[in-house]
Order: sequence, then structure tokens, then C-alpha cells
Amino acid sequence: MGERAALLERENQVRNAAKLHWLAGPEQKETGKRMPRKPIKWRAESLKRQKLLGFADLAAREIVVDVNAHGSERELLDTICHEVLHVSSGDMLSEKAVDLMAQDLASVLYRMKWRRVLD
Ligand SMILES: [Zn+2]
Repeated sequence: MGERAALLERENQVRNAAKLHWLAGPEQKETGKRMPRKPIKWRAESLKRQKLLGFADLAAREIVVDVNAHGSERELLDTICHEVLHVSSGDMLSEKAVDLMAQDLASVLYRMKWRRVLD
């Protein structure tokens, strides 16, 4: 293996270890045990100024959704799935992959009649 190939291989190993670390959750310093992943928080907020329907805050494990900016419940479900996938994957999926997976999830959930209960 050439020097460049070895370097790329090492880089790939480090990247894969980082991905596994993200997916498995943080390690406790004292015991080395994995801590459970924190639940993803959500917040409803107007994002009109940012011209967004939603966004994902990876560091905070939080999604922010402009609930009232959506034209339909189906579209809202898609945005929620989309932002959760960004946080859940640690942004390791491409935008295209997130888009496709969110559409699939929202489509199945919607056809299964999952809906919000509004008080
Ligand atoms: Zn996105």
C-alpha cells in the first residue's frame, strides 16, 4: 500500500470510529460505559425571517419547526421527520438521503393515519 493510500485508509478508520461513537452515544469518563442517547427535543417557533420550515441543532439534539408555516399536516410531518433524521444521524446522511427517507417516513405515517391531537 502506497503512502497516500495508507493515509486515506487511516483517515477512513478515524471517520468510521467517530461515526460509531456518535451512534452509540457518549462514553462515561469513569467507567467507559456508553450513556443512553438523550431524547431529541423539539420547539415550535416562527422561522419566517430565515425563510425556513425547520432546522436541526445537532449540538443541542433539538429540532425547531415553524408549525404554522406548513400548508398541510402531511408537509409538517415531512419536515419533522427530515429534521429528526439530521439530528439522529449526526448529519452523516446527505441532504438528498434525508429528503428521501423523510418522504418515505412521512408517507407511511400519514397513510397509517398518524395525526397530531390538537387541544
Ligand atoms: Zn435538511
